[in-house]
Amino acid sequence: MPDSSTTRAARIIARCRELARITDVSNETTRLFLSPATRDAHTLLQWWFRQAHLTTRTDDTGSLRAVRRSAKEDAPTLILFSHIDTVPNAGAFDGPLGILIALAAIEELHATPLPFAIELIAFSEEEGVRFSFPFLSSLAATGQLTAADLARTDANGITIAQAITNFGLDPNRIAETCPLPPNTFAAIEVHIEQGPVLEADDASLAVVEAIVGQSRFALTFTGHANHAGTTPMALRHDALVAAATFIAETSTYAANYKQLVATVGHIEALPGAVNVVPGTVRLTLDVRHPRDESRHAAVAHLLTRAEAAAHLHGCTVAATLTSEQKAVPMDRALTVHLHQAAERTGHDAKSLFSGAGHDAMILAPHVPTTMLFLRSPGGLSHHPGETVREQDVEAALATLLNLLLHLHPHT
Ligand SMILES: [Zn+2]
Repeated sequence: MPDSSTTRAARIIARCRELARITDVSNETTRLFLSPATRDAHTLLQWWFRQAHLTTRTDDTGSLRAVRRSAKEDAPTLILFSHIDTVPNAGAFDGPLGILIALAAIEELHATPLPFAIELIAFSEEEGVRFSFPFLSSLAATGQLTAADLARTDANGITIAQAITNFGLDPNRIAETCPLPPNTFAAIEVHIEQGPVLEADDASLAVVEAIVGQSRFALTFTGHANHAGTTPMALRHDALVAAATFIAETSTYAANYKQLVATVGHIEALPGAVNVVPGTVRLTLDVRHPRDESRHAAVAHLLTRAEAAAHLHGCTVAATLTSEQKAVPMDRALTVHLHQAAERTGHDAKSLFSGAGHDAMILAPHVPTTMLFLRSPGGLSHHPGETVREQDVEAALATLLNLLLHLHPHT
């Protein structure tokens, strides 16, 4: 017989699974930005939100917004948020779990007066699958979505503006309907970790300290393509051997540098024939670290190692920066509040850096923002096997509830 706390966590999980059955592609969970399934997901969420006595509306990027007012007039607003779009063939918890834990907390506190209003936001586009453009709705919520962004097209040549219109919304009203309330004093996202760290630590929860910064490069190693039978080893300029040396050094270096991750995720050797010494190799390098100075130092070191590896094998290397994102610290005071709330409910929340991007990093420069992570069993996410443990969902709900009861807008 489950106790009542197991029951409320089980109910949240059941709701996530119910939402996951709403999909654009049968027998899997795929719900892209403003797709037909999004409308059905809105209908279900709105039903739950209204049962919780929330006032709901859809903003003009298709994010679902639900408000619990405060009895106190002109009370400031706390934002609880996550997203309802998915990657193709997704799990049930990346995004929806944060919304449904927040909803459960609001339901629990139905009869409890709070000195602030709560707006629950189900962002319509975080993953960026349809338009290769992530964080669309949180960019709109912080006034950063541009006319050029709205002109981006999906695989069928439909612009974001047209997709919004087709959904029955008005792209010309984004600046009016999407911004966060001006009296927002804090924003909190509950999310699965999507990595293996909490499981390795046998811990339920973590408070996110920062979302890591990242640098991405395209590297080209250039040697000489030549005959694989007639070119002696000592006289080769093998671009792939140079690249392989660099890749091995990158992995070793990052493994020995705390909190650094560095990845060569794509490689192409040319001309790419069994009997030709590779003359050109193109590869990508992705470097992430929670501290920007450390990331810059690591990048500088790795690019030096690339040159050394090229030189060693009679090649040259050229590196081009393809994208760069600064680390985004979460709000210090809110992070401490969240740790204390976890502690008061008997949970020892770890401190973690998020290696993945989240809407929280878009909101953080504008309003005090933090994130609460739940353990991802098997470290599995962006996969139908993605799951959560009931005990962790209960821990997250208890922590959020405790925070809501202790949070004061002026502190
Ligand atoms: Zn997510």
